[in-house]
Amino acid sequence: MSITDKVVAVVTKIPVGFATVLKTLFRKPVTVQYPEQTKPMSARFRGRHHLKRYDDGLEKCIGCALCAAACPADAIYVEAAENTNEERYSPGERYAKTYEINMLRCIFCGYCEDACPTNAIVLEPIEFPTGYTRDGMIYVKDMLLEPPPAGAPATPQQTPAGKYDRAILPFPPITD
Ligand code: SF4
Ligand code: SF4
Repeated sequence: MSITDKVVAVVTKIPVGFATVLKTLFRKPVTVQYPEQTKPMSARFRGRHHLKRYDDGLEKCIGCALCAAACPADAIYVEAAENTNEERYSPGERYAKTYEINMLRCIFCGYCEDACPTNAIVLEPIEFPTGYTRDGMIYVKDMLLEPPPAGAPATPQQTPAGKYDRAILPFPPITD
């Protein structure tokens, strides 16, 4: 290609470039000012994990580590300890003394949620894990455990002997 042809090619492209700029100049911006603004997410979207409680304030997690076994990213660490009636965290024999999720490893597949026999671990649809450091992205139990429902005591609780002899409480009756 001669120099003249090259100059002609460049010059003819300039109006195309300006036309593209003018076309997009008055379009509504698509940028969302996160985190002040959020976009609606799909109902299937899985965000940050939460550890749930029963209505009486006891923790649903029984420290069985099935979630850790099911996790394909090896992101969950669970260490269990024994409940006593004087110091009870969950129904049944054991509770999670240590529960950690490394959010940098997590791929938000939801396998932990599926594996949990007590529906203790739930990936909420609208929250995203954030942090400034690698250590800060390891979410420990205090960060994951939800506060007790209104009026219910926190854990540990003192409970009467024999009341919580099963790890999984009966599900409430279906009213629909
Ligand atoms: S969502 Fe998936 S990757 Fe993340 S902790 Fe659960 S099982 Fe592991
Ligand atoms: S979250 Fe569920 S599966 Fe994981 S240790 Fe607790 S009870 Fe077991």
